[in-house]
Amino acid sequence: MLIAGNWKMNTDLPKARALAAGVRKAAETAGDVEVLVCPPFVSLDAVCQVMRGSAVQVGGQTLYPEDSGAFTGEVSAPMLRSVGCSHVIVGHSERRQLFGETDEEVNARLVQAHLHGLVPILCVGETLQERNAGHQQTVVKEQLAAALAGVDIAEAADLLVAYEPVWAIGTGETASPEQAQAMHAFIRSWLNDRFGETVGVDIAILYGGSMKPHNADELLSQDDVDGGLIGGASLKASDFGAIINVATGYTA
Ligand code: PEP
Repeated sequence: MLIAGNWKMNTDLPKARALAAGVRKAAETAGDVEVLVCPPFVSLDAVCQVMRGSAVQVGGQTLYPEDSGAFTGEVSAPMLRSVGCSHVIVGHSERRQLFGETDEEVNARLVQAHLHGLVPILCVGETLQERNAGHQQTVVKEQLAAALAGVDIAEAADLLVAYEPVWAIGTGETASPEQAQAMHAFIRSWLNDRFGETVGVDIAILYGGSMKPHNADELLSQDDVDGGLIGGASLKASDFGAIINVATGYTA
């Protein structure tokens, strides 16, 4: 089980430090649950320092697929590594929808993450319109295929997938446990076909979309749900800690 927090564009530096300290404390009883936080770029270094000596890992929210150069405003994989990041989110629906990130760009970011030893958290998920039209599996399959183009088995061993139905992100609306399980099983079987059972079966698939302390149990108890990517509820250490607590009940 892995519980990851996506702080998005929230928390200034003092708030980020305070939240990080709260998460560090909450994670003391996480046992075998892996805990990760993804703060804004400007707070990464400070949060990495707060987490030093604990098991809490830190990740970026995106990256640019070049090592360095004239790319004003962007942040590279080597930069993320240099402050102590272990993970990076790629293809979050907000990046796709608000910043026009294409499947090809998601693929380039994912390849770049692997190249520099960052574990990519690949986000996929359908819109409400696509679900209402019954196209959710086709959409997710196409996102997976495009994002993982050219990725080999060795790289896939270091990959996390997050199923985040767009209609459930930040809306308070959550996929039902059945909807989440059905899509996670579909993703797992696609990964098995693509990479073979030995690798595909081991790729953790996180659920994201309004996961909160009150609904974490019904989602995390599903067979193919291996953790959560949490936005809103990761901004309060007590809520995030409560979700971590729920996850401890599902570690082997
Ligand atoms: C997210 O942004 O990845 C997310 C799941 O947000 P929320 O939990 O707020 O829906």
